[in-house]
Amino acid sequence: MIFSNIFSKKKITVAYTVEVCLKCNLQRKRKFTTGDVLFSESSKCSSCDGISVIEKIFGETFEQ
Ligand SMILES: [Zn+2]
Repeated sequence: MIFSNIFSKKKITVAYTVEVCLKCNLQRKRKFTTGDVLFSESSKCSSCDGISVIEKIFGETFEQ
């Protein structure tokens, strides 16, 4: 099979969500979860009492 080499390496894409606090600008990167929407309020900041919003959602591809 001529294509067998292409599929011998498994590539997986993992989606990440970056949250940023509106008050102290702390950035936090975590794994994307279903329901994450860009620029929506996500969670409470872990270092102050501010609200974190989702600033960026991106994917990283890894070879296994
Ligand atoms: Zn904060």
